[in-house]
Amino acid sequence: MEKLLEVRGLKKYFALNKGLFSKGSTIIKAVDDVSFDLKGGETLGVVGESGSGKSTVGRSILRLIEPTAGEVNYKGENILSLKGESLRSFRKNAQMIFQDPYASLNPRMRVGDAIIEPILSHNLMSRGDAIDKAVELLEKVGLDKDYFDRFPHQFSGGQRQRIGIARALGLEPEVIVADEPVSALDVSVQAQIINLFKDLQEEFGFAYLFIAHDLSVVKYLSDRIAVMYLGEIVELCKKEELFENPMHPYTKALISAIPKPDPRIKEKRIILKGDIPSHSNPPSGCKFSSRCYCVMDICKEKHPELIDYNGHKVRCHLFSKGGENNGEISSKENC
Ligand code: ADP
Ligand code: MG
Repeated sequence: MEKLLEVRGLKKYFALNKGLFSKGSTIIKAVDDVSFDLKGGETLGVVGESGSGKSTVGRSILRLIEPTAGEVNYKGENILSLKGESLRSFRKNAQMIFQDPYASLNPRMRVGDAIIEPILSHNLMSRGDAIDKAVELLEKVGLDKDYFDRFPHQFSGGQRQRIGIARALGLEPEVIVADEPVSALDVSVQAQIINLFKDLQEEFGFAYLFIAHDLSVVKYLSDRIAVMYLGEIVELCKKEELFENPMHPYTKALISAIPKPDPRIKEKRIILKGDIPSHSNPPSGCKFSSRCYCVMDICKEKHPELIDYNGHKVRCHLFSKGGENNGEISSKENC
């Protein structure tokens, strides 16, 4: 598969109080040195607790916010240096779908107009053709074409998310960043929308960066999964590999939190102690060390690198000696 997006060393720091480089201001390292690739037609799931930096990654790679450092290459071109027409063209090819289907549609705009507006603003076709296309897209996302003239308040959350998807599809994007697109929906509706995402990808072939705070949401859709903690990727590999052979203690805890379909299977849930620490004052060494049930002395001193073990990347001192568990903590449960 062709490499669509190549993200290298992406950083986004926010300064509270004063400027980014002035003394005395608090720096939040919302995204701190994140690198990954997204290939054409694939789905990369991004998971992690609220505040781990997922939305900031999504927004930075679409340049909805300006990253502090790093590179985002789209088909070999660094989009962080694009301006004018080439930036517009990138923005047509890379669309975002947001979490809150209530906030993402203009309440005064009819559904049909909301779908044709981006098509017309990119001069992709005539108004008449855009209307035909919007009708076709309504049907593709499972809505009645008669909804064209209605207003967003007449729809449920799930239906609004379908409208948002139709709006993004109108531009025939190659990449869709979906930022917790089902988190605000009822559980029964979540599965329908996830199925819709999957069906549309099979039909149109775009790639997803699919963000969720919950592993069970990305499990079905993803080809690969990146697990984030406090602004960093701590594990990244193929989905099957992640579920069959999770390496990072944080990933193991996330997996253990997924409800099991068969209640007779009693696997012990790993409960993490404490809340996610503040971004402005993370633990020294490994950022997960303050909550890790496998913590060793080195974890509090040295920041672990993301190391690639045959395509399975993990940032954890348990594996930092040539992929071997170094033996120090073998007596600890789940480590
Ligand atoms: P997630 O999507 O994983 O919940 P976010 O990317 O939204 O995480 O946020 C990561 C961190 O960056 C959080 O600590 C958040 O408070 C902080 N943050 C996000 N946006 C801003 C902003 N505009 N100004 C200051 N801090 C921000
Ligand atoms: Mg978010």
